[in-house]
Amino acid sequence: MKTVKRTVCDPNCHANPKCGISATIEDGRITAIGAAKYPKPGLEKRICMMGSSRLDYQYHPDRLKTPLKRGGPRGSGQWEAIGWDEAVQLFVKNQQAAIDKYGSRSVMFSSYTGAFALLTRGAASRYAALTGGTVGLPSGIDYGVPTGLQYMFGVPAYTYFAPGSHQFADMANSKVSILWGINPVVTRSVDHLPIKAARKSGTRLICIDPVYSESARLCDEHISLRPGTDGALALALAHYLIDNGLIDEDFLRNHTDMPFLLDGYEDKKVWCSTQGKAVPLDKAQTPALTGSDKHITVFDAFRDMVSAYTLPIAAEITGICADVIEQLANTYAAAKPASIRLGYGIDRWFYSDCTARAIAALACLSGNIGIPGGGVSLSNSPPSVPVRGSAFYAPEGHSPGGALTMMDADKAVRTGKPYPIKMECISLGNPFNQLKPGRTDILTDYIPNLDYLVVIDHFMTDTAKQADLVLPACTIFERTDIVVDSILQLQQRMVEPVGEAKSDFEIFALLAEAMGHGEWFSGTPEDYIAKMLDIDDPKMADVTIERLLDEEVIDVHKRKEPWYGFADRKFPTGSGRVEFYKPGQAPYGSELPVYREPIEASPKNPLFKKYPLVLLSAHSRYRIHSTFANMPSILAREPEPIMRISPQDADKRALADGAIAKVQNDRGTLKIKCKVDEAIRPGAILISEGHWTEQFIEGDPYILTHDQYSETAQNYAHYDVLVEVSAA
Ligand code: SF4
Repeated sequence: MKTVKRTVCDPNCHANPKCGISATIEDGRITAIGAAKYPKPGLEKRICMMGSSRLDYQYHPDRLKTPLKRGGPRGSGQWEAIGWDEAVQLFVKNQQAAIDKYGSRSVMFSSYTGAFALLTRGAASRYAALTGGTVGLPSGIDYGVPTGLQYMFGVPAYTYFAPGSHQFADMANSKVSILWGINPVVTRSVDHLPIKAARKSGTRLICIDPVYSESARLCDEHISLRPGTDGALALALAHYLIDNGLIDEDFLRNHTDMPFLLDGYEDKKVWCSTQGKAVPLDKAQTPALTGSDKHITVFDAFRDMVSAYTLPIAAEITGICADVIEQLANTYAAAKPASIRLGYGIDRWFYSDCTARAIAALACLSGNIGIPGGGVSLSNSPPSVPVRGSAFYAPEGHSPGGALTMMDADKAVRTGKPYPIKMECISLGNPFNQLKPGRTDILTDYIPNLDYLVVIDHFMTDTAKQADLVLPACTIFERTDIVVDSILQLQQRMVEPVGEAKSDFEIFALLAEAMGHGEWFSGTPEDYIAKMLDIDDPKMADVTIERLLDEEVIDVHKRKEPWYGFADRKFPTGSGRVEFYKPGQAPYGSELPVYREPIEASPKNPLFKKYPLVLLSAHSRYRIHSTFANMPSILAREPEPIMRISPQDADKRALADGAIAKVQNDRGTLKIKCKVDEAIRPGAILISEGHWTEQFIEGDPYILTHDQYSETAQNYAHYDVLVEVSAA
């Protein structure tokens, strides 16, 4: 018998909403998949090539089918298939040993972003709460920009600025839109069509990127800059706007901390030009943007700081002609409403928080905040459907023993501080591929410090290969769950799991039972989904599990116009205003969004003589990080890793198209096929991320990155890497 059922594709791809997939099932097996319809008017069914490969994925011969116990040394590839009883016994025996010796929080549950379904993501956290374990947070990459935006606008970094951003569809309201370090044609493939529509309807599009990307080709103008110098460009634009009176003083006075005095900042003191003295804001008749000889405002300090970034100096730093910078400033200032779209190209740098603040400053200086067609946006997401995730993540009366960011977790594993992590259970991620930088060090001084490593996955990934125990997980067709973004969608089990695979929910339920906490996982997935939907919010009044099982997709917002943030001009900061000045950043010298050279990829670095090329590792159109890298339909399109290099740099090194190149720095060496490509700026090379290490001829690019992380950006600097290339 043939049936058709609906589920949802849910990897870390930024699609919003995630794409519905309809699957044809015959005799208990999926035989075809395609894009599923949405009930929401105006939302067309869509699917990208990765979503289309989900059928390959489901029945891939390499799917893990049983639990596997390591049979030889770690990483040796020797495995013994075992049953679930033994797997559970091994897990809890090792967990109990770690608890007895080091305490319950020495066992860390690191759940990454390979899936966004809530039970699947939350099962590890729930179990960690029940057993007092540590929750490993998936911060550390793509976190610098949200963190910088949090400093300014108060929106928590973990929301990726969704509440403050504008949807792509709002770009049709912009006269000008700047795509800054973002390549949405590739990274937001199913969502980028409104950008094309905006251009057709007259929005002028400008792309700022060292690479002439697929998105740059959509734009009216492409501005190429030296990688990592975006902050200097932003400060030069800010200087130009201020110097030429192209700023919205009312916005700055009424909605930002610009009038606050540095010597009375916490008390919101301002300089009142009518009274001629410093007074609290609520007592001021006319708060001034500039203070007096003795009382400096935030605006004064910011203006003085950016005055160093004249056009010639910015041109020298960024490699952009001064007249292009001047023209950009004039175009942006003259075109209200104007929008800026940020991407992760500016994120993977040591000072990415400052860069985000400097760019966001432009939107504030020009008064482009809280208006249709304006804004500085990181996300394309309107606020999510409100559900009570904590009803599942945080079982009543229990809480995890700790929560560590990826950087703090790395420290804890390596140094035992702030407390030792001795066992790790990794799910929904492949962090030992490209995510954790400095892979060689990961293999030599991270993994050996773990007494026991468990990985839950569908395939034997680079991370799973290092494990002591590998547990086979269910796919989107084999589990019941919900995916929550701008709409609510049901993910439903429609076929039996391949082999003995189990859903993350089922795996942690088994473990909880073995650890004496079985009653906390005794409900069905539907029971816990019902609890999450039971929330005191008028929009959710008629949303029940029964309705969701029946309708499969529910649009609770019923929004017709594109979302844009801060329409009420209310900012969740301490002052209730946009905050340019952050006294807490004083230890780092970044009370204001200063520019600093990249920590490694700078001509000022003595290493630059030996390694003069910047290694960029952007997202690929063929993978979501490392997910789908082993799908036959994807490999048919990009069979092997490629290094893209400019004709100038290729000539200097006698490298022809298709030649095998050696890419190296002091951390390692990689051999890879090269493609001579005019789209790449001289001085940089591009190897897109996510290929599995076994797919490289020799070495891999993940050993070339370093693991210096920024405490203020809460981020690793994956792009801030120097290399040299030669013929292999
Ligand atoms: S991977 Fe592709 S099909 Fe799946 S949700 Fe993302 S954009 Fe949609």
